[in-house]
Amino acid sequence: MQNFPLMINGEPVETPQHSEVINPATGLPFASCSQADVHVAQQAIGAAAQAFDSWSKLSHSQRQEYCHQIGAVIEANMPELMQLICQETGKPMGGLNGVGAGMEVGGSAFWAHFTADLELPVEVLQDDDSGRVELHRKPLGVVASITPWNWPLLIATWHVIPALLAGNTVVIKPSPYTPITTLRMVELANSVLPPGVLNAITGDGEVGNLLTSHPQIAKVIFTGSTPTGRKIMASASASLKRLTLELGGNDAGIVLPGTNLDSALPAIFGCCFHNNGQTCAALKRLYVHRSQYQAACDGMAAKARTIKVGNGLEEGTELGPVQNAAQLAIVESLVAAAKEEGGKVLCGGERLPGDGYFYAPTVVAGLSNGSRLVDEEPFGPVLPIVAYDSLEEVIELANDNDAGLGGSVWADDLDDAHALAGKLACGTVWINDHGAVQPNMPFGGVKQSGLGVEFGLEGLKEMTSCQSICIKPLAPKPS
Ligand code: NAD
Repeated sequence: MQNFPLMINGEPVETPQHSEVINPATGLPFASCSQADVHVAQQAIGAAAQAFDSWSKLSHSQRQEYCHQIGAVIEANMPELMQLICQETGKPMGGLNGVGAGMEVGGSAFWAHFTADLELPVEVLQDDDSGRVELHRKPLGVVASITPWNWPLLIATWHVIPALLAGNTVVIKPSPYTPITTLRMVELANSVLPPGVLNAITGDGEVGNLLTSHPQIAKVIFTGSTPTGRKIMASASASLKRLTLELGGNDAGIVLPGTNLDSALPAIFGCCFHNNGQTCAALKRLYVHRSQYQAACDGMAAKARTIKVGNGLEEGTELGPVQNAAQLAIVESLVAAAKEEGGKVLCGGERLPGDGYFYAPTVVAGLSNGSRLVDEEPFGPVLPIVAYDSLEEVIELANDNDAGLGGSVWADDLDDAHALAGKLACGTVWINDHGAVQPNMPFGGVKQSGLGVEFGLEGLKEMTSCQSICIKPLAPKPS
């Protein structure tokens, strides 16, 4: 079985301890990675701290060139990275609506190139007889990036490229469930970067805790669950680290009365079930006006029954397995709770045969807020559809959740949808779409879904601190 090393100071690092990585489509290990401990993590932080001085002194355009080169090595190694992603996450090579390993790798390269082109010019806030005020953006130092298992390469790219572009150096720690693609991407990136600029280590809570408390780490960018986000915030507080926290979501989608379901439902289905619902900003609670409720339930269940679930390496697979056994247990427990609470399972509702963590795409009707499946993030292939009677009621139901990542309104009349969009308490609202992130659009959560934003200029600025320079002319010499 191939072992993937850590990357520290430009060198692959093997450690005595290896951990096996399971392919969720088979339930069997397909590769292993070297395991970092706290001592090894210290070395990675030290290497990044040492590299900071020279990296931060490069010009912005020199760092842009390096970031483009990272995009290029990702592109050049697309088939290998796709295969690794498919094996470690379970997502299909192609996937439902083209959302799969190909999209993850291609999207990562695209994102790297787009972000590399962003400029961070000095802003002149005032320039008149009384003086000149300039706003400069300075790198922070060493950034720790901690990532989850659902989109390991894409999220790593989202963290790493803006951090590097802004002049920081990075230590990244992927999820123990999906470390392989990140380790390989960092190895590839190190073929073009100076040593120490981008380091990758592995581990879970102990190593994570070191990263979030270490005095030489200036900022933590974390994508993962809300409970872990809270721990990170507490751990980072002693040294007042800058934080970007992209946390859990339980996004509501609202179908307005009279919407053409023939057009809307296929699109909604993809927004709920792509990557098996294991996307932070997937549509996880669907609210449909009572006049169209039955038709929407029937349509979604009919579509779910047609979906080809299987090993992502097999041609034509639309959805793969749930990524890990613990997440599968959460899905099973939420569906069991839904049944006890009077929910009607319209399709699916059970594991599929085989050794992998396969679960049938599931649609549940007859529940509302207050039931666990509606209130909690399933992060799996399960969708509750909830009936509503009035717009006032549906806004209240949609906002009645601690999470506030994304939301959507589906309607034929864009003005009607737009009028409702601003009433949703979440970081991004899509109209007739959901969860489609793009590199020029800031993305982040409100309420318990996080702090700060990623993407675009706003995201890049979060990798910097402001320095205002205020220039006053001296009073003229007395004559
Ligand atoms: P998780 O919180 O369990 O783990 C995420 C990462 O944190 C892993 O690398 C893990 O090893 C690390 N970690 C665990 N304990 C730690 C600690 N004490 N200190 C530092 N690091 C620690 O999340 P997960 O199960 O991997 O991911 C699923 C969750 O991520 C879902 O809730 C999903 O909504 C969320 N998510 C959010 C976004 C977003 O952009 N908002 C994107 C993707 C996923």
